[in-house]
Amino acid sequence: MLKTNAWKSWKEEEIDKVLQFAEDYRLFISINKTERKFVDAVVELARKTGFSDISTKKGTLVPGDKIYKINKGKQIILGTIGKQPMDQGARFIVAHIDAPRLDLKPSPVYEDEGMGYFKTCYYGGIKKYQWLTIPLALYGIAVLKTGEIKKIEIGDNENDPVFTITDLLPHLAKDQVKKTIEEGFPGENLNILAATIPEREEEKEPVKRNIFSILNKKYGITEEDIISSEFEIVPAGPAKDLGIDRSMILGYGQDDRVCAYTSFRALIENNNPEKSIFCILVDQEEIGSYGTTSAQSTFFQFFLEEITEKTGCKQPLRYIYENSKAISADVSSLLDPGYKEAYDPKNSARIGHGVCVERTTGGRGKSGSTEPAAEYIAWIRKIFDENQVHWQPSEIGKVEQGGGGTVATFFARLNIPTIDCGTGVISMHAPFEVTSKADIYSTYMAYKTFYTAGEK
Ligand code: MN
Ligand code: MN
Repeated sequence: MLKTNAWKSWKEEEIDKVLQFAEDYRLFISINKTERKFVDAVVELARKTGFSDISTKKGTLVPGDKIYKINKGKQIILGTIGKQPMDQGARFIVAHIDAPRLDLKPSPVYEDEGMGYFKTCYYGGIKKYQWLTIPLALYGIAVLKTGEIKKIEIGDNENDPVFTITDLLPHLAKDQVKKTIEEGFPGENLNILAATIPEREEEKEPVKRNIFSILNKKYGITEEDIISSEFEIVPAGPAKDLGIDRSMILGYGQDDRVCAYTSFRALIENNNPEKSIFCILVDQEEIGSYGTTSAQSTFFQFFLEEITEKTGCKQPLRYIYENSKAISADVSSLLDPGYKEAYDPKNSARIGHGVCVERTTGGRGKSGSTEPAAEYIAWIRKIFDENQVHWQPSEIGKVEQGGGGTVATFFARLNIPTIDCGTGVISMHAPFEVTSKADIYSTYMAYKTFYTAGEK
C-alpha cells in the first residue's frame, strides 16, 4: 500500500500485533547495544527456533535446515535452506549491527585537576555536541596476552554508575557560543569523566592510578591490556516508547539495529522457503566496511561456497549471484518538519507511512549510488502491494544537501540485484533516534514478503 498512513488502514487486532512486535524490538535493542552482544542474542534466539552452527552439521544440508555462521563474534549469517537448489538463486537481506558511538583510545586514561578521564575517538558520523551531558555506558572486552577475555559492562544495570562528557555552563559560554558547531566541539575534547577519588599513597596522578586499581581489582585488566581491547561508549538507558500515543520508539542505534532485528525475525519465522533465504548481519558499516567483519569481507562469499558444497550444488557461484535477489536493509531518513529546508518534500518519506524503498543513495548527482534496474524495483512494488505491505519511495534529502551510502554496493557488484529498503528514522545518528512502530512493523512485513515471494 503505497504512501498511506498505516495506523489508519490497520484493524485493531493488527495494531495489537504491531505494538507487541515493537515491544519485543524495544526490549531487544535496550540490552544489545554492541555488535558482539547483538550477535550473541541473535544466536540465543535462533538456537531456540532450531538453528545450529553450520560447522556442527554433518552430511548434506537439506531443505528446511537452519544454520548460522559467526565471524569473529561480530558478524553473523543465518539461513534456511530452500526447496530449490542454490543455483536457482537465493534471497539475501543484509543489515548492519554497528552504530555510531565513542571508542576508547588504546591509552585512554588520564588525569587533569584531580579528575580522571577516558580519551575517545568517535566511530561513525556524529554531531559531537549531542553527546555532551548525557548519561553514557561502557561496554567491551580486553583480551590479555594469554588470550583470556575480560568483559566490562557498566551503565545499563539498575544500580550501575554511568559516565558523561561535560559542557561549559551558559554563564561562561560567551566565547563558545560564537564558534561554529565544527569549531566549538573538537573530537579531541570528547573525554569521558570517569573518577575523582585519588589513591592515598600515590603522589603522581593518584586519580588515574585509582582508576587502574579498580579496573585491576574488579575486572583483572591492566593499563597495557587496554591496548588490545574494544571498549565502546554508548548512551546509557533503555529505549523508550515515545509520544502520548506511544506510537514511536526513542532509542540508541536504531540505525541499523531496526533493520537487523526485523530481518532476523522475518528469517526465523519462515520454515519452508522455496529458495534458500539468508540474513546477513555485518559490522563496520559506519566506518566504510573495510574490515574482516564488514560487508566487504570475503566471509560472505566463502560462506556461500560452503553452502553450495554442503547442499550438493555443483554450479559455480556466479549462477547463484545472477539468480539471486538482495535487500540492503538500512534505515532511510524521514522528513523532519523542523528542518524542511534540507528535504525535497515530494520525494521524502513520512513517518508512519511504511517501509522506505530507496532507489538512489549516495549524494550529489547520484555519486556512490548503486541504483537498481527499474525491473527489479517493479518487482519489489508488486510483491509489497500484493501482500498489503505499507511502503513508500524515499530519498535521503535534497540533491546537493549531502548524502550517504549503504552496503548495497558490495552485493550489487557481485551482480546480485540489490535494493535499499528499510525503516525511516528521525534524528539519525543522534544518541537517541526516533522511529515509528508502524514503520518497524511494515519493515518486518516487507522482509517476510521478500523472503517468500515468487519470481514473477
Ligand atoms: Mn548510519
Ligand atoms: Mn545505516
